[in-house]
Amino acid sequence: MKRITLLGATGSIGLRTLDLVASFPEEFQVAGLAARGSNVDLLADLCRKYSPRAVALLDAGAVDRRARRLTAPRPELLAGPEGLAALARDVDADVVVSALVGGAGLLPTMAAIQAGRTLALANKETLVMAGSLMTAAARRRGVKLLPVDSEHSAVFQCLAGHNRGDVHRILLTASGGPFRETPKTRLASVTVEDALRHPTWKMGAKITIDSATLMNKGLEIIEAHWLFDVASDRVQVVVHPQSIVHSMVEYVDGSVIAQLGVADMGVPILYALTYPERRPTPAPRLDLTRVGPLTFYEPDADKFPCLRLARAALEQGGAAPVVLNAANEIAVAAFLHRRIGFTDIADLIERALVGSRAGELRSIEECVAIDAETRRDVERLVDARDGGRPA
Ligand code: NAD
Ligand code: MG
Repeated sequence: MKRITLLGATGSIGLRTLDLVASFPEEFQVAGLAARGSNVDLLADLCRKYSPRAVALLDAGAVDRRARRLTAPRPELLAGPEGLAALARDVDADVVVSALVGGAGLLPTMAAIQAGRTLALANKETLVMAGSLMTAAARRRGVKLLPVDSEHSAVFQCLAGHNRGDVHRILLTASGGPFRETPKTRLASVTVEDALRHPTWKMGAKITIDSATLMNKGLEIIEAHWLFDVASDRVQVVVHPQSIVHSMVEYVDGSVIAQLGVADMGVPILYALTYPERRPTPAPRLDLTRVGPLTFYEPDADKFPCLRLARAALEQGGAAPVVLNAANEIAVAAFLHRRIGFTDIADLIERALVGSRAGELRSIEECVAIDAETRRDVERLVDARDGGRPA
């Protein structure tokens, strides 16, 4: 029986993970659940269904509201950022699934690694911010970082049984998002609804906007760098609108190994939970005779500047990826609140990156400070752009 702590239990990845727990009651048991706390009813349902030992909510007020709705056996209730980190660190679990969205996941994810817990990582922003510190801590504690992101799960599977020295490059596939065919001149006027209409994957709002700007792929280049120890110029992005080939590894002899499957996050989540074993999926399977043609082409770097910005931040190193991520989070939230336009997202990130410091990140504290400072700076730029209109 594997005990699972789930950070981000009420999100898209979190709920899909819990579906799998319900499909394999003999295999998995929920140890801890964490979320922001905005949906108290959903959390009360999850507690009834999965009986976690402990629950951590960012919002302390939600802890009180929730406590009143819980029936016995009551889980231990933890609150605030400290509560989330304590859940990841102190509650006994065989795997911690890191599926909060954004930089909020950094401290609890680090806490899980420092406690020596196997990590199933969906929360790519944490690795973008603090990849050097996270991978160093994982090495020190002998912790496995198992990718949940579908592309990285694909690469991880394509690397198994091969010599790392024989890898020529990694081919990360991208759906291209909802604006794949939209002319560049129309991007400035697309709406939030247009951007949220992802062609192949159903996901949380933030990553869906990242997929529309292609920043998601930019973040994934950085994620691949840290997970697989490859330089930026060894990661090629290939647009593949059908989202069937989840990524590929090309070896020095020209052989390319790909991983395929339906566009269902259940597959990479289940693999991270059962690794190195596999289990029969309870979901629909791939039938290649029915999917039609598979196509591949180069992304339009001019139309999607976020790809270039992410590569530049990775190459610069130090604080640059922290700034990239924080600026992106603030800009995406401002776009979702209709305070800025779609193309302002990349503009704001570019402005934030100017003058960001190089040099190694020395500590998580330094990373958190740069993150907070960038958020403040970009908030000010957003205020200036929308004339201080309230959201
Ligand atoms: P989501 O928005 O659906 O869910 C986010 C979860 O995090 C929720 O449980 C929410 O309560 C919690 N949360 C949000 N802000 C918080 C805060 N400040 N403090 C504490 N908790 C907070 O997001 P998602 O789509 O499930 O994505 C989660 C992560 O997985 C992201 O990093 C995303 O990039 C990554 N990812 C998602 C998918 C997908 O298919 N959804 C695929 C690959 C990677
Ligand atoms: Mg992905």
